[in-house]
Amino acid sequence: MKGKLIVLEGIDGSGKSTQFKLLKERLTLEGRPFRSVTFPRYDKDSSALIRSYLGGEFGSDPGDVSAWAASVFFFVDRYASFKTDWGEYYNNGGLVLCDRYTTSNAIHQGAKLEPSRLGGFLDWLFEFEYTLMELPKPDAVLYMDIDLKTSLDQLCGRQSSDGSVGDIHETHADYLENCLRAGDFSAAHLGWRRISCLRDGAMRTQSEIHGDVYKIVKELL
Ligand code: ADP
Repeated sequence: MKGKLIVLEGIDGSGKSTQFKLLKERLTLEGRPFRSVTFPRYDKDSSALIRSYLGGEFGSDPGDVSAWAASVFFFVDRYASFKTDWGEYYNNGGLVLCDRYTTSNAIHQGAKLEPSRLGGFLDWLFEFEYTLMELPKPDAVLYMDIDLKTSLDQLCGRQSSDGSVGDIHETHADYLENCLRAGDFSAAHLGWRRISCLRDGAMRTQSEIHGDVYKIVKELL
């Protein structure tokens, strides 16, 4: 019996990792068994091409690598992860939570395309990853619904507080705007569950947002 695969998705700075952590803590507290994966897995060999790409080795502009080529780099890491880490657990009925998944290609690589090409790209992406390569389809994708200004503010706060340097995606505000466009399109096109992060134009508290995330996850279990 197949398990459940639940994905948290959103543009950079949308608060997705924060919500992922809160969700894991809550399920752990409840004693609910699960496995979790955060993509990309930067510490694994399978992410070598992702690191080259995000580090700018193939060009300093995200558009220097086509949406299709970059999607394959990210797919390889997910495939290795499925095969060596959580595939068996999932195939035996386990609950798997993912911070990013195939759906991140929809957003970050879809961002490179004209709106008229996005639908065709999504068709290719899901045919490739789920049908041909047989990665499991998520049971639900929870999409952090946010605006550009708030996500940029949150990214700025994060970069200055933890001292990290942004990758070629994070340092291009225009790119982030295109990610939001691709994410909003994908959410509508693919039926992702929207998690409202804003109220009256301001970020809701982490625990308010967590309440919504948790409610949807509980419905699925
Ligand atoms: P992502 O994983 O989507 O890039 P993060 O979870 O890392 O986003 O959040 C980006 C920044 O915003 C972090 O500094 C985080 O502490 C902060 N943050 C996340 N959620 C909220 C919230 N609801 N209110 C205020 N700040 C938040």
